[in-house]
Amino acid sequence: MLSDMTVDILQMASMVLFPRSCAGCGARDSVLCDACSQLFLRWRERSIAHSFTVFSCGQYTRAVRNAVLAWKDHGDEELDVLFAGLLAERIICVLKNILSTDVQVCVVPAPSSPKSVQSRGRAHMNILSIRIVQQINAYTQEQGSNCRAHMCPCLHIDAKIRKSVTASHRKERAERLSKGLLYEPQHAGDAEGSKRCTIILDDIVTSGATLRACVRLLRSRGEHVLAAFTLSDADRHTPDNAYYA
Ligand SMILES: [Zn+2]
Repeated sequence: MLSDMTVDILQMASMVLFPRSCAGCGARDSVLCDACSQLFLRWRERSIAHSFTVFSCGQYTRAVRNAVLAWKDHGDEELDVLFAGLLAERIICVLKNILSTDVQVCVVPAPSSPKSVQSRGRAHMNILSIRIVQQINAYTQEQGSNCRAHMCPCLHIDAKIRKSVTASHRKERAERLSKGLLYEPQHAGDAEGSKRCTIILDDIVTSGATLRACVRLLRSRGEHVLAAFTLSDADRHTPDNAYYA
């Protein structure tokens, strides 16, 4: 067993040998530099279905893409805290009125396929959702509100259904997604009726097909789904104060 001192020395040595660089642009000595962090504050919103809007932190430009992929596909866990903070801020701003009531907010992470969870070694959206729930609850407590958020991982992707590159038609992909999506009521939380609402979290929204399939399934099970929130929006046509990295 290594002593604490040995661990400290090894950590310091690794910082010297492998200095940290920004996940967005590669600038030295930060997890995400100020300039790249600012890109996640160029908020966007887009309607992707009937009375359903997705609110994103930033546009999926080069630096945002680099950072999101470093976190999602390359296990850059140091971004967990930062991304949770950025998304929690977006959620609190949009839901401010609701968070001041005594509603229970179910936070549903968009599911990853069992295969991608296995290859990444973690369910990245679940990890982010846990931190976001903590931040929402810290906010509502501070405000003296009875509103509480709960992480409800009730959506899953059937291991037998695989994404197919040949499923190029939008309709075909949507059907495949709908068939592969499962709802597990045991993970849906137990708050009932009008005192409960649901939000969906995801990392990237592209065509919106995945989120549409999620909201359709949740609504068919009686969930009152308010909106979706993502770190980034890959649609170039979503209006904002356009910035290209
Ligand atoms: Zn940077």
